[in-house]
Amino acid sequence: MELDGLPEPAALMAHLGMSGQLLVEEPAAPDEKHLKVRLTLSDMPDAPAELRFVDQRIFGGMFLSALTATSDGGPGGAGSMSKFIPQAAAHIARDVLDPVRSAEDLYTSLRKKTTQLKRAILDQEVISGVGNIYADEALWAAGLSGLRNTATIRRFEVTLLNEALIDVMTRALEAGGTSFDSLYVNVNGASGYFSRSLNAYGREGEPCLRCLEQGRQSLIRRDPFMGRSSYSCPVCQPRPRRIPR
Ligand SMILES: [Zn+2]
Repeated sequence: MELDGLPEPAALMAHLGMSGQLLVEEPAAPDEKHLKVRLTLSDMPDAPAELRFVDQRIFGGMFLSALTATSDGGPGGAGSMSKFIPQAAAHIARDVLDPVRSAEDLYTSLRKKTTQLKRAILDQEVISGVGNIYADEALWAAGLSGLRNTATIRRFEVTLLNEALIDVMTRALEAGGTSFDSLYVNVNGASGYFSRSLNAYGREGEPCLRCLEQGRQSLIRRDPFMGRSSYSCPVCQPRPRRIPR
């Protein structure tokens, strides 16, 4: 959010930490139990008028950040044509659903690295907005193993992956998210239902639906991944012979 009336152009930033939420509320709405910051957005009589930062824990926060030019000269974010971005977010790559981003951009960023594909998708400096669950779902949809080496990924594979990422994130947003944690709710306070339509994540030992459709029998497997889990199909997401770090 870009702010007026400051000596230098700056944006209001919010870091959600582990459990922070930004809620848009009518001023008359009762205070949340863990309400930390209340901002009046507008004095329009009918507009939702309060932005509230609610955090049960203390890892989140709000702060001001000076603006800097975007590295690709494109608009800094949705809803504005301003070619500036907060300094504090300048290292973060464009979001999956950012219309300025292209499959070619993703291809270029991936090929610059020599790492596992899933690690790269979760790297905010490669592409932003993808969490562990969505990465597994997009890799499954694209038929790619997350262990593939980004340095050898091919253009048509990135095109498939890019389409899968956009599709998964679009559906997840429509459904309102996937969190299994009741702390995470959307701006209207409702938790997500996307978890009902997962194809890979959380389905260890269950049949891969694509393989089943094609008359093959294959079970989704779970592997440890950076303190969490990766779910994939060993048949339609073939592993590379050599796994990069
Ligand atoms: Zn499969």
